[in-house]
Amino acid sequence: MTPQAESIMELFRATGAYLEGHFRLTSGLHSAQYLQSALVLQHPRAAERLGQLMAEHLRDAKTGEVGLVVSPALGGLIIGHETARALGARHIFLERDPVSAKMVLRRGFTIKPGERTVVVEDVITTGGTTKDVIDLVREAGADVAAAGSIIDRSGGRADVGIPRVALVTLQVAAHYPNECPLCAQGIPAVKPGSRPV
Ligand SMILES: [Zn+2]
Repeated sequence: MTPQAESIMELFRATGAYLEGHFRLTSGLHSAQYLQSALVLQHPRAAERLGQLMAEHLRDAKTGEVGLVVSPALGGLIIGHETARALGARHIFLERDPVSAKMVLRRGFTIKPGERTVVVEDVITTGGTTKDVIDLVREAGADVAAAGSIIDRSGGRADVGIPRVALVTLQVAAHYPNECPLCAQGIPAVKPGSRPV
């Protein structure tokens, strides 16, 4: 891990956004790590700094002059906004339609044909959400140059079909309780947020 990535993980730890232990996740799976980026992004100065770093990583990925940052709600809102601030770009977000579960553009947001765009979210796991956003933005005619996330928890494996950057790359394993190595050691699992941080 680079010194920059180490310092971001330190920020996550200090704000309780990254916990190590034995956790029972909302999905029912167990993990030795827990990430909740909203806990770091609740601090505007930290969010601003992460947006600046995201903008630098995207520039390094040769995105050219970006006019638009698009994020999936809710997780991508704050980091997308701060990345757009650092890039001098506009920021809009997509939402999942509650009925179809498809990503949709609401609130009168528009995407201009040919607009140079990047897609930014907080945490990428499989890349599925980012891909859904890329597809919709492309359908609207924009030119999607790259995608970025603060954390890549796929260990670098998530493939979204375009250049992708992450401020921190982690390998976060999750297990069914009956296959959980920590359960096998008799360590009790806790629900994240149910203990003081
Ligand atoms: Zn377990």
